[in-house]
Amino acid sequence: MSVFEHPEFDSHEHVAFFHDSATGLKAIIAIHNTNLGPSLGGCRMWPYLNSAEALTDVLRLSKGMTYKAAMANLQQGGGKSVIIGDPRQHKNEAFMQAMGRFVESFNGQYVTAEDSGITVADLQAVATQTQHVAGTHALYNVLGETPTGNPAPSTAYGVFVGLKQTVKHVLNSNLNGVKVAIQGMGHVGYRLAKQLHEEGAELYVADIFPEGLAKAEQEFGAKIVAPEDILSLPVDVIAPCAMGSAINDESLPDIRAKIIAGAANNQLAREELGQALHQRGICYAPDYVINAGGIIDIYHQKKSDSSDDALRAHIDQIGDTLSEVYQRAEEQSLATNIIANRIAEERFSK
Ligand code: NAD
Repeated sequence: MSVFEHPEFDSHEHVAFFHDSATGLKAIIAIHNTNLGPSLGGCRMWPYLNSAEALTDVLRLSKGMTYKAAMANLQQGGGKSVIIGDPRQHKNEAFMQAMGRFVESFNGQYVTAEDSGITVADLQAVATQTQHVAGTHALYNVLGETPTGNPAPSTAYGVFVGLKQTVKHVLNSNLNGVKVAIQGMGHVGYRLAKQLHEEGAELYVADIFPEGLAKAEQEFGAKIVAPEDILSLPVDVIAPCAMGSAINDESLPDIRAKIIAGAANNQLAREELGQALHQRGICYAPDYVINAGGIIDIYHQKKSDSSDDALRAHIDQIGDTLSEVYQRAEEQSLATNIIANRIAEERFSK
């Protein structure tokens, strides 16, 4: 298994492997870039088939965090950690404490947080060994909810701000009467629907489970649509808020909306599809820019001197950042995902 020659290596500053024989912990921490500040990124636990698979994942994810932090105006770099193992079987307090010692060995250059397979309780065990943990407690909320540590309200608010800005840019309109199709009525999709409804948008919703759909129908008058039809509706905006790769070779030809603006990570199955969207005149809000409310939330929850208003003002900047992306994309006739990457690189490169 090569590291420096790895296709995802991309100038990582630091990649470390850790094994704790007492607990069996096997983990990798990757720090992509710290030019803007110490690296921040979640810890993922997954039953990777082998360490090569885990390495590929951690390198890809930590690089993504550098771009996301730069576009979210955070004084943070990008990093990530992965633990090899099944989170339902191989985890206990001592195991997570060992992970805490691994994080501590970076002296603050890597700050960890929650990702798939890791809970707040796990992070609390990590926090017994290191102070470089985010997401163990929550103080601030932008949607008037009791802070729980779940960043979904901030993510949903950021997507709302970004979607509104994109509608203004493309349709020169506010949200009143704008037709939005939301794929996924989960933590983020439901909260996005609520805010859009409050501003008069007409909603179409799909999910593979009925609970969120019934609520959206009752509370927001949303029309329920079959999951296989949601992306091809004749609406103004589609908001992918379910899983990744919603925009793929199959779904793209049928898209009739002028705007794609949603919360899901990795919405484009392939980066090149951004250019295909651009050529079809569809404005795509780059996923890692519009869904950065969650990382901004985690950043503020770690500060003792922040506030609901400061968190909200920071998330509001997503709208300005998207405007910059759209303007440059038009000037240079390039896809928005390419422009977003370039702006991020300008911001974090020395
Ligand atoms: P969630 O699991 O609460 O909601 C996802 C919803 O999508 C679920 O209700 C699920 O049933 C539904 N779904 C899955 N496949 C579907 C399909 N084919 N068609 C329609 N619905 C489908 O997750 P979430 O926290 O709401 O996050 C939504 C997306 O946003 C994810 O891609 C996540 O990675 C991304 N994201 C979330 C946050 C956050 O703060 N929660 C931050 C950044 C990015």
